[in-house]
Amino acid sequence: MSVIVPGSTIGILGGGQLGRMIASAASQLGYRTHIYAPEESGPAADVSPLWTRGDYHDADALGAFARGVDVVTYEFENIDPAAVELLATHSIVRPGAQALRVAQDRIAEKRFVCDLGGLTAQFAPVESLDDLESAIEQIGSRAILKTNRMGYDGKGQARIGEPGDAVGAWNAIGRQSAVLEGFVTFDQEFSVILVRGANGEVCFWDSAANVHVDGILATSTVPGGALIEGQLPVARALAQQIADALDYVGVLTCEFFASADGPVFNEMAPRVHNSGHWTTEGAVTSQFENHVRAVCGLPLGDTGLAARAVTMRNLIGDDAHDWLTILSDPANHLHLYGKHEARPGRKMGHVTRLTL
Ligand code: AMP
Repeated sequence: MSVIVPGSTIGILGGGQLGRMIASAASQLGYRTHIYAPEESGPAADVSPLWTRGDYHDADALGAFARGVDVVTYEFENIDPAAVELLATHSIVRPGAQALRVAQDRIAEKRFVCDLGGLTAQFAPVESLDDLESAIEQIGSRAILKTNRMGYDGKGQARIGEPGDAVGAWNAIGRQSAVLEGFVTFDQEFSVILVRGANGEVCFWDSAANVHVDGILATSTVPGGALIEGQLPVARALAQQIADALDYVGVLTCEFFASADGPVFNEMAPRVHNSGHWTTEGAVTSQFENHVRAVCGLPLGDTGLAARAVTMRNLIGDDAHDWLTILSDPANHLHLYGKHEARPGRKMGHVTRLTL
């Protein structure tokens, strides 16, 4: 097992707020970070001394970046796995390309999880309007059409209510490779966030109850409540099977619906996740620190709760302008991502509130 010692440089693909928080945790542990992103700058630039602007398909630039760092990780999973394989010929890449392959493709992801015995929404691949019409016949018209790739925060999705909605939904997602998912009736949403070390050790954080508004995470609350607690053994066992099957190293997030039939797997993110932001103050070791520890081959930190209860609220768009009011409550911890423009739906920061 290779250990990347403090003082080494961690390369991070993606320079957004997740890169910013990984870089902060890395610097606390004595590492330098080098961001690789297509943008000229971004939230991670404020805390990372090195930044390469480059395309994710530029083999030469990726190679030069990988040769200059000791390990590569990512905050952003929509990268061509071939690029990650190329990086792996020059440096250690954690998590590996297989995790990206599975997580990027909703159909591959669901098949992978079903093969492990997990429960998912009913689903059918859709490549054309004809496919969509037969998928609606098979699954029913209470369904959601999602682009197979590149979806996030509810983007690339169209709800279907009746068979006549097929054309509108197909157009709405841009007539591209998609999956039709049966609508899951659920009581709550939660995520299982685990960290798997380079030696295969796995630790879980408590599972937050997540509330989404318009497809975007609004709040995460811990403890998540009795219903979620009851579904955790099955959900955690599945998340661990996924991590083990991928020989995963780093933080892995699996999102679930808590349904009457048990936990229904929705999707995974092979990275630190918004629903784990509460761990920065609310857990003994944050998801960011343990991600760095894992990818560097270090021992993992305690994932236990550091408070009786924790709530994380996202600051979306203009919400971030309330920073002074937020700070006037001493129980609040404010995080702003340094983004200059507060567009609607844009994640500008978050606030975490502890009940000690
Ligand atoms: P996703 O991008 O897949 O995480 O979807 C965003 C949100 O839409 C989820 O967090 C759910 O609130 C809702 N959603 C997604 N898929 C389904 C489904 N199959 N059934 C019911 N609600 C869903």
